[in-house]
Amino acid sequence: MKNRLKLLWELQQIDTELDKLDELRGDLPREIAIIENKLNELKEKIQNLRKEKEESIRKREENDEKIVESRANVKKYKAQLLQVKTNREYDALTKEIDYTQELVDKLEQENNTLADLNKKLTQEIEEIEPEIKNFEQELKERSKDLAEIDKKTEKERMVLVQKREEIKAKITRADLSLYNRIRAAKGKAVVPIRRNACDGCYAAISSQKQLEIRRNDRIYTCESCGRILISAEIESS
Ligand SMILES: [Zn+2]
Repeated sequence: MKNRLKLLWELQQIDTELDKLDELRGDLPREIAIIENKLNELKEKIQNLRKEKEESIRKREENDEKIVESRANVKKYKAQLLQVKTNREYDALTKEIDYTQELVDKLEQENNTLADLNKKLTQEIEEIEPEIKNFEQELKERSKDLAEIDKKTEKERMVLVQKREEIKAKITRADLSLYNRIRAAKGKAVVPIRRNACDGCYAAISSQKQLEIRRNDRIYTCESCGRILISAEIESS
């Protein structure tokens, strides 16, 4: 049992060292994540705007072709009008001319609206482009800062990670899952007793309980914070 407690304490000490290395990274990881999110958002937005712009250009070109075609038709119908022999033919052609002319007007109006849309989209894209550039620059700088910090602590971290793996392999699955659960919730999972109190939450530990903990015969947890409490003997082992 003593050994189980020792292993958990060793694991905690290594994790405390790893936490200290993480603290050196400061706010950088969080800041980088925020910039990355913002960048992704803007990139998606600009992609959609560009797509919409392309679509509007394509539609305008399509309309332009129809306009040219329809105008040619109007011209052709007007020429035919001079050669018709019956009133019925005349009426039919006139109707066709009116209809085609209306179509041309409608397409031209639509193209004007599309031109306005295009202008608006171009403006929006131009506004976002420098914003993206700024965020990219910021991301580059922050990432560089973080990489520099990580480089300084890389060796130390690697040694700790290696040691952690070795210790972890010796810990029972149940103990490890208990440890992980407390660590996830409380940061520190294993704490000693200091001045008759839990060193995690500073709640007083009764002398009766301290006596029990000194036996090192099972895992004791703090009644108020749930952290694993260890005796001085384990702490100094
Ligand atoms: Zn506690």
